[in-house]
Amino acid sequence: SVTLDDFDAELAEAVRNEERRQENHVELIASENYASPLVMSIQNTVLTNKYAEGYPGKRYYSGCEYVDVAERLAIERARALFDCDYVNVQPHAGAQANAAVFLALVSPGDTVMGMNLAQGGHLTHGNPSNFSGRHYRIVPYGLDPATGLIDYDEMERIALETRPKMLIGGFSAYSRYKDWARMRAIADKVGALFWVDMAHVAGLVAAGEYPNPLPHAHVVTSTTHKTLRGPRGGLILSRGQDEDFYKKLNSAVFPGVQGGPLMHLIAAKAIAFKEALAPEFKTYQKQVVTNARAMAALLQKRGYKIVSGGTDNHMMLIDLSDKPYTGKDADAALSNAYITANKNSVPNDPRSPFVTSGLRIGTPAVTTRGFGVEECEQLAGWLCDVLDALETGNSDLVARQVREQVTALCRRHPVYQ
Ligand code: PLP
Repeated sequence: SVTLDDFDAELAEAVRNEERRQENHVELIASENYASPLVMSIQNTVLTNKYAEGYPGKRYYSGCEYVDVAERLAIERARALFDCDYVNVQPHAGAQANAAVFLALVSPGDTVMGMNLAQGGHLTHGNPSNFSGRHYRIVPYGLDPATGLIDYDEMERIALETRPKMLIGGFSAYSRYKDWARMRAIADKVGALFWVDMAHVAGLVAAGEYPNPLPHAHVVTSTTHKTLRGPRGGLILSRGQDEDFYKKLNSAVFPGVQGGPLMHLIAAKAIAFKEALAPEFKTYQKQVVTNARAMAALLQKRGYKIVSGGTDNHMMLIDLSDKPYTGKDADAALSNAYITANKNSVPNDPRSPFVTSGLRIGTPAVTTRGFGVEECEQLAGWLCDVLDALETGNSDLVARQVREQVTALCRRHPVYQ
């Protein structure tokens, strides 16, 4: 059989370079992780060939008896993992899961309240550039600028004034617990549905390291590839609602926003959920949070400001607004030192989202490759060295020194070999 190298040398080279990059660079992007070899290898099976529109036992095509097994396993395991009764494992990605929730539960033009993208929300929570912001009347909520914490009183005031049909909890950049009970109480006060997008913290929730939104929300969505460490994909969950509600969600996914489900990815979700049900996953998630706290503490000791003053989860936002350089500069300087993070707006950021005054960092990926507190403190120290050098003007020298240390540390903690 023909090899990738023989067939497409250019692509083979790109894959090898990406493998090398993932092994030799430290990954601090809070939304990324390394899927296990089993999660990756099951995607490379004949399941990718099968069309299976519909749901297990009720398909539009013949020959679905074996892919039905895969989808049922994924559903049962997600149910056990998150303690819920409704599961849909078909969304191709987080954005599709969120599109399905909008389609199922509100109508175009309805008022929906979501966290402002600039203050930690996600594009699909009502940003004007996204379908959610284009088709619904979005009223954003955000943070108390003095504390960097969600301002629930203000959220309630806005909700009472605007009477949204749906309230969205969940975030892409917020390092504290969200008060799901308080948000549900606000939703109830105005007769709104409460939807939580737990994409970032799903792994922590599965392991009991972050409050489970399911007892409070009418519906919960997630991705499967962030802290949950599965394949790329989306997920919809719910508990305690009636069959009609679940039917609406199912038909919003298919045929509402998708056609045939990606059965090889659904099988990979089943593997990831089985891995997440094992005791080692709890240990891993605990370490993710411990590592994030250790990094936040060290950054603060070195004089860097963390939005909200610290972290309760896997991520934090470094506020660089009082620095002479931007988030974009910091991102580039770290990249040069083989530390991958992402520039991110901070609350009331005067700079554009392409430039920003902050950095978002997270510990899911480094923890997967075996970093503990010692390695994370070392890493936070190097990160500070690189940022300090942006002010002292010896960036190239520091980048070279840090790059060598990062490479050596990565070699001691290989991702896949
Ligand atoms: N929801 C949240 C909170 C996210 O942070 C993200 C991705 O970053 C998504 C949804 C979208 O997921 P995907 O990129 O799989 O569409």
